[in-house]
Amino acid sequence: FVEQVFRVAPHTVYVYDRTTGCYFYENRSIAELLGHAAHDGEPMADATLEDLIHPDDYENVWHHLLEFEAVPDGTCLEVEYRLRHAAGGWRWFHARESVLHRDATGEVLQVVGVLTDITERIELDRLVRRQTAELKRLTYQLEGQKEALEEANARLARLAESDSLTGLRNHGAMQARLDEEVAHARRVGLPLSVIMVDVDHFKSFNDTWGHPAGDRVLKRVAEVLCDSARDTDLVARYGGEEFALVLPATDRGGAAVVAERVRAAVAAIAGLERRITVSVGVAALAPTHTEPAALLADADAALYAAKHGGRDRVVAAWTLDATAA
Ligand code: GH3
Ligand code: MG
Ligand code: MG
Repeated sequence: FVEQVFRVAPHTVYVYDRTTGCYFYENRSIAELLGHAAHDGEPMADATLEDLIHPDDYENVWHHLLEFEAVPDGTCLEVEYRLRHAAGGWRWFHARESVLHRDATGEVLQVVGVLTDITERIELDRLVRRQTAELKRLTYQLEGQKEALEEANARLARLAESDSLTGLRNHGAMQARLDEEVAHARRVGLPLSVIMVDVDHFKSFNDTWGHPAGDRVLKRVAEVLCDSARDTDLVARYGGEEFALVLPATDRGGAAVVAERVRAAVAAIAGLERRITVSVGVAALAPTHTEPAALLADADAALYAAKHGGRDRVVAAWTLDATAA
């Protein structure tokens, strides 16, 4: 019965003799398992386990055998190691063993074991581990590229919204921000103001000192506007020699103060070919402004009034309303 069972069992069952270092019993040829043809005779007859085992696994197996000294009979211990294959190279095996015979002193003489070839599992394991590592590396690389791309996109977006001469936000960016700010101010019931700034007699400055000198003036004016505004304010180059400021959470009084500060700061710029002044129009969001454009139009009308009033001055749109009224 036992013979029959061992013949049909898919695994290799053996008795290993520690005193000889050889297999005392095997249900199928371990030699064949290791690629030795049956007609080779018994090429492994004289080989001990020591001759077959991979040098790096020898110590592991030795410890495994020593462990049996300390455990009661019937205990199963497991170990994995490589054996040399006849075709060259190594096969991985999993062995599950238990003590079969001890001598009078308790030293293990024979162990019975079941041997399974796990080479494919180990190789698959390795492949999976290698590919996981490769995947991690690629993911990491991709992350880096994604970050670089996002940064480039952000830079591109900033560029698309910026004026190349002054570095201020351009007309389009300002319109978009104004729409947002008007909607927000209406939603939360906060004031909102807009200031329009136009350089006085700038054509004559260009005509006299040349376009490059005019460009330098525009850059200086832009700097002064930024210095006069808060971080939360938007400073934009509206076009040509016109600038606009959007002041969130700022009412008439606050906006008038900023407008006057801007006017005075530009008039005080030193080191230019000629003293520069600006005319300033200021308007605050009112219920009558159905569109953001209406608020801008009011600021523009105030700016027009400032020009006609003699330039280098601030005019508030609400004073025009009063005049009209
Ligand atoms: P006003 O006081 O009525 O505003 O007179 P102005 O000469 O400033 O107004 P006008 O609209 O007649 O001329 C604006 C000038 O601004 C004309 C143009 O040469 C100049 N300008 C517009 N954009 C630029 C620029 O990018 N660089 C330079 N250097 N000049 C510019
Ligand atoms: Mg102008
Ligand atoms: Mg002008």
